[in-house]
Amino acid sequence: MIYVIGTGPGGLDEMTPRAFEALKECEIISGYEKYIELVKNFLPGKIFMSYKMREEVKRCEEALKISRDSNKKIALISSGDPGVYGMAGLILEMSEGSGEEIEIIPGITAANSAAAILGAPLMNDYAVISLSDLLTDWSVIEKRLAVACEGDFVIALYNPASRHRPQNFERACEILLRYKDPATPSGYVRNAGREGTEFEVMTLENIKACKKIDMLCTVIIGNSQSKIINGKLITARGYKVI
Ligand code: SAH
Repeated sequence: MIYVIGTGPGGLDEMTPRAFEALKECEIISGYEKYIELVKNFLPGKIFMSYKMREEVKRCEEALKISRDSNKKIALISSGDPGVYGMAGLILEMSEGSGEEIEIIPGITAANSAAAILGAPLMNDYAVISLSDLLTDWSVIEKRLAVACEGDFVIALYNPASRHRPQNFERACEILLRYKDPATPSGYVRNAGREGTEFEVMTLENIKACKKIDMLCTVIIGNSQSKIINGKLITARGYKVI
């Protein structure tokens, strides 16, 4: 049996009770090394399998093998939600025809934990776009950015910039600036719900040049109805406010 578990942004307080119960039930916990470190302390007595970035296929192969050969319960963990750029899709694809039982347990995704810290920017329709071009062509990402702007969506950006492709974020902002007002309220949260949380609300023009944006950040770019009130980023839904 394989549980694919969303552990939320980081702390135990933002993990669902269902996710925690499932983790406690599993003998083996497998995941990206950074996420394993986040859960290790509150799960004594487990066997942990830590993997590097880009070893997702290997992680699934080994989980399927362990589950088949040993009948042990194994948890494949993802931070946030496992169905949002996490392990859920891959393990379901790879287990096709194996007869393996797989249960997906959701978690709070980064867009939601970041939104709560910034204010209420996702109050109306929004699009989630990853700037990672490891598995998606950059031309497709550019198109998605453009059409999300045409629809006046609020946009949550995951994987905004890495050491290997630091320029992606700035390039993405240049596309957004073709459609959106440079003064569009925006913000980022670094390490939402984890030690070292940092966040800032600013304009789209300023966030483009912000040097703090890295892979530990989620960036939220407002739409034409977004505003800043008392330092909070809010997207108005259209209620009449006195
Ligand atoms: N499954 C995860 C997303 C994995 S993709 C989820 O649902 O949240 C990895 C990206 O998620 C990071 O580059 C970053 O953009 C975002 N992210 C994950 N955890 C975060 C956190 N605690 N704070 C801010 N952004 C986070």
